[in-house]
Amino acid sequence: MKLFTTSILALLASASAFTSSPSAFTPRNAASIRSTSTLDMVAEDAKVILVTGASRGLGRAIAVDLGKQGQKVVVNYAGSTDAANETVEMVKAAGGDAIAVQANCADADEIKEMFATAVEAFGTVDVLVNNAGITKDTLVMRMKPAQWQDVIDINLSGVFYCTQAFFKLAAKKRTGRIVNISSVVGQIGNPGQANYAAAKGGVIGLTMSNAKEFSTRGVTVNCVCPGFIASDMTAKLSEEYLETVSKGIPLGRLGKPEEVAGMVRFLALDDAADYITGHTFNVDGGIAIGC
Ligand code: NAP
Repeated sequence: MKLFTTSILALLASASAFTSSPSAFTPRNAASIRSTSTLDMVAEDAKVILVTGASRGLGRAIAVDLGKQGQKVVVNYAGSTDAANETVEMVKAAGGDAIAVQANCADADEIKEMFATAVEAFGTVDVLVNNAGITKDTLVMRMKPAQWQDVIDINLSGVFYCTQAFFKLAAKKRTGRIVNISSVVGQIGNPGQANYAAAKGGVIGLTMSNAKEFSTRGVTVNCVCPGFIASDMTAKLSEEYLETVSKGIPLGRLGKPEEVAGMVRFLALDDAADYITGHTFNVDGGIAIGC
């Protein structure tokens, strides 16, 4: 019960453009830039939920949604300090508590530091949402090793590093939940996104493997595959391209970040998800089944 609140493509994303969308990350000391929690008034039984890549887009919507449930959110980000701090304020305004922690998900040492910072601030981490991701789209014949590797490092290895750091905490407590954000591209592929599809498909495999490995410790692992969702990742697409894409979506429109956040909330918090592990849930307007 909440005692008091202050109140205070991807998917198909850049397939048409085949443009690079580099992360805004500039390496700095991991966790060196972070905001502090100012709220101690959330529910005593509030969960501590670490959301990677929560400065913008889906991650921000997930963080704010969890804030509305009165939870404590660790807002991870790569380079967008102002945006991350804005997310923190939005979570607090929604009724939760939050801190922002900068860390590059592709760097295992920075991830360890991020978890240490989260534990220092909130005592533990109960739920991990692996959301951070980038695209570096181009056709296979043009793809440079760095374009391949950067996407694999952040979108797949980053999920592994965060999972490993999280499981060290969760295994001891014999409870915890992990929600991985994959993509429908990891299920059905997309021209121009070989790196992204491989990483996102890997996340689905990792979800199933980790669900089996962690089950004896009471930790569930599930995956969400968004379809075509309005965010910075899709904002660069032309109207024309979006119109064409929408024709292939049974529900006939792009999704909203809040719609993905609803599924994450269920898997992260709902008692009804206690007996669900190793599964992938699509929030895609039906695009994976086709029109
Ligand atoms: P977005 O708007 O581009 O935001 C990406 C987020 O990831 C930002 O918060 C960014 O932080 C963070 N990030 C990037 N590189 C990072 C790194 N190395 N370490 C830590 N954080 C990093 O993307 P989005 O559309 O919200 O996508 C979120 C997730 O959903 C991704 O995994 C994406 O693949 C997946 N997805 C999206 C769609 C879609 O249509 N939008 C569809 C399917 C799946 P900074 O702001 O600091 O750079």
